[in-house]
Amino acid sequence: MGLPAPGGRFGEYGGRFVPESLVPACMELEEAFDDAWADPAFRAELGAVLRDYGGRPTPVTECLRLSEELGVRMLLKREDLVHAGSHKLNNVVGQALLTRRMGKRRLVAETGAGQHGVATATAAALFGLECTVYMGELDTERQELNVFRMELLGAEVRPVRAGSRTLKDAVNEALRDWVATVDHTHYCLGSVMGPHPFPYMVRELQRVVGDEAREQCRALLDGADPDVVVACVGGGSNAAGTFAGFADTQARLVGVEAAGGAAATDGIPGVLHGMRSLLLQDEVGQILEAESISAGLDYPGIGPEHASLAASGRARYEKATDEEVLDAFQLLARTEGILPALEPAHALAWIAREVGRGVPRGSTVLVTLSGRGDKDVAQVRELLAAGRGPR
Ligand SMILES: *Cc1c(COP(=O)(O)O)cnc(C)c1O
Repeated sequence: MGLPAPGGRFGEYGGRFVPESLVPACMELEEAFDDAWADPAFRAELGAVLRDYGGRPTPVTECLRLSEELGVRMLLKREDLVHAGSHKLNNVVGQALLTRRMGKRRLVAETGAGQHGVATATAAALFGLECTVYMGELDTERQELNVFRMELLGAEVRPVRAGSRTLKDAVNEALRDWVATVDHTHYCLGSVMGPHPFPYMVRELQRVVGDEAREQCRALLDGADPDVVVACVGGGSNAAGTFAGFADTQARLVGVEAAGGAAATDGIPGVLHGMRSLLLQDEVGQILEAESISAGLDYPGIGPEHASLAASGRARYEKATDEEVLDAFQLLARTEGILPALEPAHALAWIAREVGRGVPRGSTVLVTLSGRGDKDVAQVRELLAAGRGPR
């Protein structure tokens, strides 16, 4: 997983499908990121912030009781231990540092469930940047507590009343704001999606997950790599960062989507939010709403590099149902004393289902635990009280 082809192409996916007015902003960002990424001083500062503020490196935990239960050797990359509770900090700290380097003073971001909005507000507070977060009005109602969190962190949350009043409308509004304010504003996009250079840039900012995990696994496994590397996929940033560390090994790479929003499996090529990728759409090309118990996976597309990895077969994409996810959530809690976020519980659910089928017993499996489950405990309680099924 190296550089994309010119124009930000990953095979037939990716690119930069934006209005003329956004092209200079994308080009300025591409140049600024390339320059920063090649600058050892920028890398050193990012590394220091992620270490001293973010808590990196995160450990790889060998799960003895879960391994015994499942019949494979289970290793977890612990992004749940990063400050603010998920891998999202890796991306926003990088983009906030880049914002400062570009001489800008304001961040805009989109958010669906609110997690990326909270992460962006966190980085904005840390670096003294202004912060505006666009959030579908429906999502602001569903995720009141995250709206309050962002406000506590000093951000302004702007509810978006257009369209379906959810994440995809919030992305459109954030892009619109960015065009109008680009002289002093950076658009801090939350996953490996959008126009070039975002999918590439966000993957590079998340590859710390995979790079660390690879070294940690080799130390644990006498120089060997895991047989299978699994991560959940919303837009695909934690998976892309994880896969980047293992793309040149023999490890099988598996991305797991929510069954109700599986763009890699059920998507059709199309253009949305500045990129060509696999998107959930109906026969006439209307974008469909993704739906699962995990709001963090409810994006109707996937990042273009994942679409390309699926096409080449280097990574495989699978689904987990809400019910399997609830089981996996409880399994990890009971066997290891870890409450996973519902998003990575999808990755756990897939491996729990596949051992003895697609995955031989005795295999070594690395799962990226992208976030902690505290945010989901109330919801899990309700779902279990209602008799498990979310429907
Ligand atoms: C946002 C989020 C995701 C989904 O985003 P990706 O870009 O697919 O990584 C997954 N896990 C957690 C914990 C999240 O907060």
